[in-house]
Amino acid sequence: MQKLFGALDLGGSFLKYAYGNKAKGIVFHDRIAIAKPDNNEHIFGVISEAIRIIKEKEPKIEYFGMGTPGTVNVERGVVTGVTPNLPNIVNIEMKKEIEKRNNIKVHIENDANIMCYAEASKHADQNVLGITIGTGIGSGFVYNNEIYHGQNHSALELGHTIVNINGRKCKCGKIGCAEAYCSANSMLAICNESFPELEIKSIADLLDLTNVNSKVHRKVEELLTYLGVTIANAITILDPHVVCIGGGVVDIPNFDFSFLQNIIKEYLAINYQGTLITKANFGNQAGIYGGILIAEIKYLEHFLLDK
Ligand SMILES: [Zn+2]
Repeated sequence: MQKLFGALDLGGSFLKYAYGNKAKGIVFHDRIAIAKPDNNEHIFGVISEAIRIIKEKEPKIEYFGMGTPGTVNVERGVVTGVTPNLPNIVNIEMKKEIEKRNNIKVHIENDANIMCYAEASKHADQNVLGITIGTGIGSGFVYNNEIYHGQNHSALELGHTIVNINGRKCKCGKIGCAEAYCSANSMLAICNESFPELEIKSIADLLDLTNVNSKVHRKVEELLTYLGVTIANAITILDPHVVCIGGGVVDIPNFDFSFLQNIIKEYLAINYQGTLITKANFGNQAGIYGGILIAEIKYLEHFLLDK
């Protein structure tokens, strides 16, 4: 029987959890609502409940990979940075606490890094830039089959690169970040400011409107151009083999992916050499699949070190 590994994907609304391994993929997955996202005891309780359910089914699972919003010090398993949807998880001993309460081993990563790691598994030995466009903008880079973290564990914060120095204020406190223009929340807010009479309720409704309202269509294209420029600049810096773009916005059927691809190519530096720009493969399961893969690789590293 092949060894199985656990995954936890912590978000502002749900904890997704799963187990499986690289050979079998995701064997089981489910989710629990995070009813009190500002209450750490509640969050630890939900995590323990997910681990209990997994262990009830597969008692031998001991290694878990976990994704969370925020910058993550992966050696200590501590979240730093800004996490607006889970405001109190910053600077607490998350890894130590989860391991102590549940008698397991857990490796914690930024959720976009985990998504990118899952996507990179489809592109063996290639350098992969992963981007998620949802409530916010997340990104990660897998270089030589490993997640690139940077000296402060905060590499690839593409959502907080500046696209307009006199621009809109971002949730991070800075002015003119990409995320302030082209995350789902920002696109919706900007279009409601521009067209208050339309009272647009959701990002899906907004994308529907682009088919029938040329002014909305132009506005959305203008906002997606900020996204395209951001991704083009990242490609110019990193020169990856593959760029995988996913997240809630991109998964909406009306999202014009070919427009985004063309904008990226238009704004690339002249050294563009055929980087593959593609939709992400794993959709909203990238977090749990990446968690399983990370847990498996961490187990193998420990196993080899112990020998
Ligand atoms: Zn920002």
